[in-house]
Amino acid sequence: DAFNLTGRTALVTGASQGLGAGFAVTLAAAGAKVALAARQAGKLAELQKTIEDAGGTAHAVAMDVTDAASVRAAFDDAEAALGPVDVLVNNAGIAIPKPFLEVTEADWDAVVDTNLKGCFLAGQEAARRMSQHGGGSIINISSVLGQQVIGQLASYCASKAGLIHLTKAMGLELARVGVRVNAICPGYIETPMNSEFFHSPAGEKLVKGIAQRRLGQADDLDGALLLLASDASRYMTGTVVTVDGGFLLG
Ligand code: NAD
Repeated sequence: DAFNLTGRTALVTGASQGLGAGFAVTLAAAGAKVALAARQAGKLAELQKTIEDAGGTAHAVAMDVTDAASVRAAFDDAEAALGPVDVLVNNAGIAIPKPFLEVTEADWDAVVDTNLKGCFLAGQEAARRMSQHGGGSIINISSVLGQQVIGQLASYCASKAGLIHLTKAMGLELARVGVRVNAICPGYIETPMNSEFFHSPAGEKLVKGIAQRRLGQADDLDGALLLLASDASRYMTGTVVTVDGGFLLG
């Protein structure tokens, strides 16, 4: 079918937990060989086993997305094990919530280096290689907070908005070498890291502001992920797919 990824190789950054781990499982289940990338490759053993036990193929690589040499080495490692990367999911991301007047330069740099520069570095490395072997698909994980701001997350919101424009700029320039670049903007998705917050009074208030009146679950992103990873989206580039249960509708 249109969403089948058999014969393709995908690389997911920040795959050790949360949405990245879910993306890797979903891509493997659709037939892709998946390079799991995280700063500490040792943290990926369990996920690799989960994928292999389900009949899939996975390979763990060490990658710090803020470090160009680490990014390059990780692609070399992934491609030696699994063949040329056809799909990159730029998922690694961090947030440091703080009132704006208390944000330090180090906070700012950490967030922007990971969420924006990291997608540039991995995206450029992937695109250079993809352009040599017929093209590929790059999927940048932005956020609804790249489209609408909330308090105490200035650096995060700015980095995710920047990532939307980076997606469009890359889409424009890379179309001629067969590389498509699109973004997914998840709304509020429940993961082990944020579950406690979402079930606190403040979190529950936030959920009441979502049109569908529920949090997203990781697998709510699967449709958008498989669409953008596969040939089903062959005529889509530079687009933003929002998956938020209607949160942005207000
Ligand atoms: P998470 O904190 O569980 O996962 C983020 C992953 O990125 C972690 O594995 C972390 O180790 C990794 N990472 C951080 N810095 C890195 C670096 N320098 N190099 C390599 N890996 C690094 O968070 P999550 O909720 O799974 O979020 C995944 C992505 O989805 C992020 O980009 C986040 O901004 C985005 N997002 C999440 C939500 C949500 O509600 N969960 C909503 C919108 C967007």
